[in-house]
This record gives sequence, structure tokens and C-alpha cells, in this order.
Amino acid sequence: MLIAFMPTAKLAAQDVHQVETFDVGSYKISVLSEGHNDGNTGLLTGATPEILKQYAPNGTFPMGMNAFLVRTPDKTVLVDAGYGKNLLDYLKTLNVTPEKVDIVLLTHLHGDHIGGMLKDGKPVFPQAEVYMAQAEHDYWSSDAEMNKLAENRRGGFVQARAVIQAYRSTLHLFVPAALGSASVELIPGFTGIAAYGHTPGHTGFLLQSGGSRLLIWGDLTHAMAVQMPHPEVALSFDVNPAQAVAIRKEILAYVAKHKIPIAGMHIVPPAMGKVEKSKTKGESYRFEPFSFKKK
Ligand SMILES: [Zn+2]
Repeated sequence: MLIAFMPTAKLAAQDVHQVETFDVGSYKISVLSEGHNDGNTGLLTGATPEILKQYAPNGTFPMGMNAFLVRTPDKTVLVDAGYGKNLLDYLKTLNVTPEKVDIVLLTHLHGDHIGGMLKDGKPVFPQAEVYMAQAEHDYWSSDAEMNKLAENRRGGFVQARAVIQAYRSTLHLFVPAALGSASVELIPGFTGIAAYGHTPGHTGFLLQSGGSRLLIWGDLTHAMAVQMPHPEVALSFDVNPAQAVAIRKEILAYVAKHKIPIAGMHIVPPAMGKVEKSKTKGESYRFEPFSFKKK
């Protein structure tokens, strides 16, 4: 989502010492939570009054804001960089200095996902190879797209371009594959999954280690309470809401059918769990969060 949607000041107080870590095969996945708040249902589109009454009766929905750290036996991989508010403190509690981050995978270039990439205009992760979808890079680099917005609303483009520029020498652009299709690993154990709609190059990352899998689906949902039972509900900030709805339905169906656990940037911590399809209600799903306190 856009940074304006989730003002940092409104985020709940943080305890940076609580970093939850979960095993996926030999990989360790840690949730780096930048906080959570209540999203306003006024930001949703396509929800009937009945849906809102049932799933967001107070006019709000709970919303997290996370990045994830994945430690494989030989690489330290950051998936998105949050606002950069508490990110480095979290990494410190995991004994990860910014120099130790080998790879950054970006789901998309909204400010709440790339805010932690730069400090005073300089790369925060000086050794990192940075991966983003070609379509995402091209969208934010396009003057034609930027000029569609009023001049005072171009801050997102300015920020995205600053990140692209600062990491230009280590930038890897790729074309994500459809979930379930033959695809090439970006780095061992990580595949880019096309989830276009929220932004033109919005990408999920499928992790595979041993027989275990996890799909970090980025911003496939923002309002879990509403969009799991009703994936047809979109967000007014989606660049292409119809496309976002279609890919949400497609990915939900796939992960439910194949029992692939998921993690999301706007799911309230623990922010990971499994998706189950409703047996009675057609295209309707429920989310069962993992319980943490594993090592
Ligand atoms: Zn976003």
C-alpha cells in the first residue's frame, strides 16, 4: 500500500526484542514487524454493506506491516525492508548487521516496503544484491506513469527511483512466473511469483527447502478479515483493482489446494499460516495463523 495509507505515527508501540522465527526446511524465517494498526473500511472497494457489517463491524480491520528475514544455511535474505523504522533493531536482535544482508527481494516499491532501503539517500545494505520484477522497475521508472499524478502526489515515484538509483550496480531485474508453472529460481530455494495488480510488478516469493514451502505473498491482501472470506474486495490504492482481485482469487485457490503455507506483509503477526477454502461458501477462505514459540 501507499505510505500515506499507514502513517508511521499511528503504528502501535513496538517491542523490538520480540522477533518470532519459524522453520521452513533448513531456512529460518523471522517476522520483522513494523507495527500494526486499524485500516479504515473506506479504503476498500467492492464490499457490500452486508460484508462490512459482518467482517468489519467497527468500520476498521486489523492490519500489520511486516518485512521478513530468511536465513538459509549460506545466505541472509531480506524480503522487503518495511518503513525502516525498527528494522535494523530487529536485525540486531538476530545478530544480523546491515553488511551481512546478502540479498534483498522486493515484492514492490511502495514506501512501506522500501523505506528501510536508504538512510540519508545511501544504501542501508551495502553488500546486498537487490531483486525486483522488471515490470515493477519499469512502472516506477516511467515518466508517463509519474506524470499521470498531480505534482504533489509523486512522492512514491521519487522514493522508488531513489532506491533503484542507489542500488543500481547490484540490481537484478527478473520476470516472475505464474504460481504452479515451471519457473526458474532467482537464488537457490527462491522463486518469484507474479502477483500483478496491487502494483504492475507486484511479486510474491515462493521458498522451498527440503519438502517444505512458504509463499511470502507481499500485499496480496491488506484486510485479511474481509478479503479472505471475500477475495473480490479490493483496495482503493490498488493500481489495477480488477487484476488484483483476479490474482488474489487465483493464488488463494492454489495455496489452499496445495496446502502451501503463506506469509504476508500486512497480516498481523505472526503473519504466517495456512489458508483453507470454505466448504460451503464457494470462493471464500479462512486463514489459520501459525502458533509461534518454535525455536
Ligand atoms: Zn503496497
